[in-house]
Amino acid sequence: MYVSVATEPGGSAPNEDWVGGTPSLALVLDGLSTAGLGTGCRHGVPWYVAQLGSQLVAALATGDRPLADGLAEALERVGRLHPECDLQNPGTPSATVAILRERPGHFDHLVLADSPIVLEGADGITVLTDLRVDEVCQDLRAETEQFATGTPEHRASVARLVAAQRKIRNTPEGYWVAAASPDAASHALTGTVAAADVRSAAVMSDGVSRLVTEYQMATWEGLLAQLRTSGPAALIRSIREVEATDPHGQRWPRYKAGDDAAVAFCSFAQGPQDAALPDGSA
Ligand SMILES: [Zn+2]
Repeated sequence: MYVSVATEPGGSAPNEDWVGGTPSLALVLDGLSTAGLGTGCRHGVPWYVAQLGSQLVAALATGDRPLADGLAEALERVGRLHPECDLQNPGTPSATVAILRERPGHFDHLVLADSPIVLEGADGITVLTDLRVDEVCQDLRAETEQFATGTPEHRASVARLVAAQRKIRNTPEGYWVAAASPDAASHALTGTVAAADVRSAAVMSDGVSRLVTEYQMATWEGLLAQLRTSGPAALIRSIREVEATDPHGQRWPRYKAGDDAAVAFCSFAQGPQDAALPDGSA
């Protein structure tokens, strides 16, 4: 498959998203916000996602390995890279994971937390995501929406939400993300689809998917069409233009004026049916 990628930070802070592509893999990681709270790690979230992404590519170099096995090994390897840090800290760097892998005749997919994979097939759109994080701490989440983005009150409410999430992160009562323990890999949602059913695909962080899900300024079909015609960097630029119309989160309440954004667009060698697509953009 052909994979094109782009990622941009949402503001002046270092980018905590990571994206990678190989001829057979598309991967996106979205580092969880620390909201200024301690992590027990001197390296930081951008380091963590870069290491985890690289180790995932290495662990999945063998094309038939279950994706969750590769994720477990990558998590273990990253843990071994910083034994001096307090990996038991509940705020240890953590990230969502989304992986799409092509192998002969099939696509394997894995999602852990809310970075979605969107598949475009002959019968329409399929969105693969893991929204368990949305089911916890709903009262504190609602509280953050009462304050204008960027105000001290808003920052404090986001910190309260993150502190509460940390207490149940990677526990059976809460939700699962990639962090220090390889155990989280067994809680990822995985599956396989036939290659013939997929015309294009995109793997993205929620900083990109929110154009559809939160801002409702595009459909999934429109987002994929924009990726196909203009590419991932232009898509992220268009999201920033939308966000600039609502800098304080009044229309679309959110944690940051602009969230880090990462996207990998996957296209495939054209068959005769693709060449006949009516919009001529494939
Ligand atoms: Zn560390």
